[in-house]
Amino acid sequence: MSSKLSGKVAFVTGASRGIGRAIALRLAADGAKVALNFSSNVSKAEEVKAQIEAAGGAAMLVQGDVAKFEVVAELIKKVVGAWGRLDILINNAGITRDNLLIKMTEDDFDRVISTNLKGVFNCTKAVTRLMMKQRGGRIVNMSSVVGLKGNISQANYAAAKAGIIGFTKSAARELASRGVTVNAVTPGFINTDMTAALSEKVKEVMMQEIPAGRMGTPEDVANAVAFLVSDEAAYITGQVLSVDGGMVM
Ligand code: NAP
Repeated sequence: MSSKLSGKVAFVTGASRGIGRAIALRLAADGAKVALNFSSNVSKAEEVKAQIEAAGGAAMLVQGDVAKFEVVAELIKKVVGAWGRLDILINNAGITRDNLLIKMTEDDFDRVISTNLKGVFNCTKAVTRLMMKQRGGRIVNMSSVVGLKGNISQANYAAAKAGIIGFTKSAARELASRGVTVNAVTPGFINTDMTAALSEKVKEVMMQEIPAGRMGTPEDVANAVAFLVSDEAAYITGQVLSVDGGMVM
């Protein structure tokens, strides 16, 4: 375990699986205490907690739907109550409800926007006053290359992920003078449950778009996040960092 983030408290949404899990493990390995948010998968979240504790770190589970404003406020309160502060927020929770526009339902659109975009607002809002008071903080929002270039069958997802970029830049401007940085990461095609659900045909097409010639790993994304939340990244805010093997350049 390194001590880069020792004394720091992190809140990671969607930490039970995939990219959020890798970020939680990495921040804990760097010395932070980590609150693990997730929606329903208690056993997977327990596994992440156990893995952090086995390595000598500290973790707590904070189950709840990021789309619900009051729920999120309570979860943040719980963490601050237990650990006294909150330094790092990783807005990673996300879902897909893919369909061609002609078939996309209102519910497909609303659910993706409320989880992926409003969830970012809910969590950021819940920590903003505290981070301003602390005169320091790090917020990293998980966008996507799809938010930069669009994608067939993902109008809802692309709108949410592009929205996150506008949100990130606005929050960065508001909070910069208080030592709080807000950045977005745009992963490309990363090997998680989310992409495992894609058809072989879609996967083949996506692979052709990656100059690096391979899918990314959750750890590839966690490496970038670990840098953005570190002291070394104090002068970087409002930025959008692609972790995509060169997909978008
Ligand atoms: P994943 O493997 O499907 O995991 C999603 C995580 O989000 C799970 O921990 C899930 O919890 C949690 N979650 C879902 N809805 C939630 C809610 N309403 N409240 C709280 N937690 C919720 O996804 P992933 O591939 O790791 O993606 C993580 C983030 O990266 C997402 O924002 C995604 O859009 C973005 N991203 C992914 C890729 C990629 O290629 N994989 C590319 C670009 C961007 P449960 O386990 O309880 O369901």
